[in-house]
Amino acid sequence: MAPSLRTGANRVTEAAVAPPGASMAPADPCAPCGLCCHAYLVPVTGLDVWRISRGLGAKPTDFLAAWPQGDPSPEGFILQHGGSPFRLVLQKRGSLTPGLPCVFLAPAGAGTSRCGIYAHRPETCRTYPMVKRPAGVVVHPEAMCPADAWPDGGSPSSHWLPAIDLLESDLQTYRGVVATWNQQVCGDRSGARSLEEFCQFVLDSYDAVRPDGRLPAEAD
Ligand code: SF4
Ligand code: SF4
Repeated sequence: MAPSLRTGANRVTEAAVAPPGASMAPADPCAPCGLCCHAYLVPVTGLDVWRISRGLGAKPTDFLAAWPQGDPSPEGFILQHGGSPFRLVLQKRGSLTPGLPCVFLAPAGAGTSRCGIYAHRPETCRTYPMVKRPAGVVVHPEAMCPADAWPDGGSPSSHWLPAIDLLESDLQTYRGVVATWNQQVCGDRSGARSLEEFCQFVLDSYDAVRPDGRLPAEAD
């Protein structure tokens, strides 16, 4: 059975998804599949929030939800002093339930689907199902892809490595943003904050990181 949230020993390299219907190679195994866009809750980083919100002109709370974290992690944000941490995840269509389609998964005819925000998709969607190992990039041993999806291990490391490296790098930035937020919330006992306030804090933080509004190099 698939885990409900892509967490584990190394969240970075277990990160999610791929672009159903958006061919990157002559034979794109994701086009007829889309399994991972249904099965998982997809965690996002601050850069993902910034990229999707600014790219689509959408409010973060229109496509994000706060998922209660089982175990604390550096990405866990709180909404009130002494509160339990949450993780930011993409919304599902209908309700926030693993197994339902991602809010951005769009039908593409003939029973297929595609990512409706391919250019802006989260970093975790850009790296799944690949993981970085000393010997190079390989398919994660627990990936849910059909057995014959990646017969040659996917595409060369040169394709996947920049995406994995960007995800690792942005996790560091995002953890700093979350830590600053949590410190502020811990020091303020006046009441609970909202998810919208947290998302705005993330957007403002990333606007400050990238004052020219320029996106970092895309790792496609
Ligand atoms: S489960 Fe694997 S093959 Fe299917 S869409 Fe996701 S990455 Fe592609
Ligand atoms: S953002 Fe796109 S690639 Fe990622 S889970 Fe949603 S539909 Fe799939």
